[in-house]
Amino acid sequence: MTSASDNPAIERDVPLGPMTTFGIGGPARLLTRPQNAEQLAAAVRWAKQQGEPWFLLGLGANILVGDSGFDGLVIKNEARGASFDGPRLRTESGAVVADLIELALEKELSGIEHFVGIPSSLGGALWQNLHFLAPDRESTLYIGEIVESARLLSGGEVIEVDHDWFNFGYDYSTLHDTDDVVLSATLRLTPGTRAEIEAVIAANRQWRGRAHPPDAHKNSAGSIFRKIEGVGAGRLIDAAGLKGTRVGGAEISHHHANYIVNTGGATAADVRELIELVQQRVKADSGHLLTPEIGLVGDFQNATDW
Ligand SMILES: Cc1cc2nc3c(=O)[nH]c(=O)nc-3n(C[C@H](O)[C@H](O)[C@H](O)COP(=O)(O)OP(=O)(O)OC[C@H]3O[C@@H](n4cnc5c(N)ncnc54)[C@H](O)[C@@H]3O)c2cc1C
Repeated sequence: MTSASDNPAIERDVPLGPMTTFGIGGPARLLTRPQNAEQLAAAVRWAKQQGEPWFLLGLGANILVGDSGFDGLVIKNEARGASFDGPRLRTESGAVVADLIELALEKELSGIEHFVGIPSSLGGALWQNLHFLAPDRESTLYIGEIVESARLLSGGEVIEVDHDWFNFGYDYSTLHDTDDVVLSATLRLTPGTRAEIEAVIAANRQWRGRAHPPDAHKNSAGSIFRKIEGVGAGRLIDAAGLKGTRVGGAEISHHHANYIVNTGGATAADVRELIELVQQRVKADSGHLLTPEIGLVGDFQNATDW
């Protein structure tokens, strides 16, 4: 980074496990924590100018960091400014979705409360098109539905894009196929009452409390495999009799078969081996090939992308 005093310091050899919900992974050789969108853009530009490999980290809730860590610059996005313009919520990309839900509730604005209880930064949410069941529990709501526009760092330039740029799909946005970085975004919310919004929050918390492993925010990366339309993923793993199967400290949750939990001291190698074991057993049992939905960060020997 330039030595400009308003840019955050660069730290060295920082353990990444504690910055992920899995609690797994080696250190970042370099790490910086931008506090606003300008510092975020500066960090990415610096890495590119230096030829340093870089990785943008939100809350680390959808990734597995390798045991040898990341040999480059990890940019831990702490750009969290947010403000309202009528029903529009303009927010920097490091904002935590839980905090945005609270802000919107204060203004009696609805649309983001459906994602309560899911660990995510705004940037991570747009990358993966964060989703959860609608109140009818029949359909799915996606964060992409409330995205109006965004500011990106793209090829070194700051550009404005609209909703359509993202091509939002299931577990997908255009961000998967570029190295563009979301600096900030505008979410279009709709007026609601405090009581209505709080009712959704309470119902979703209750549903999640029943369906998800109790410590999942501290020892998992959420669902490991993409669901197969009409079939699911957890159901296939359960049907193959794999709940409770372990490799080292990694275990298929007894609570929810599509979660791998770190029972303590699990390594990234344990998780990868368990993922491969599940893929083989489910394929043999049902004929379906499960595809992981989490991202791999750092060096994974013999690993290609999923
Ligand atoms: C207990 C638990 C429950 C979960 N439940 C759900 C659920 O119900 N629904 C659901 O959809 N997901 C769920 N997840 C998955 C996870 O919460 C989401 O994928 C979330 O959006 C990840 O956000 P993050 O900030 O942690 O991203 P990270 O894991 O930090 O990063 C994920 C990817 O996004 C990229 N990224 C992050 N910020 C930006 C940015 N500003 N610009 C460009 N790219 C960026 C990263 O580089 C990385 O490639 C769950 C996870 C856990 C642990």
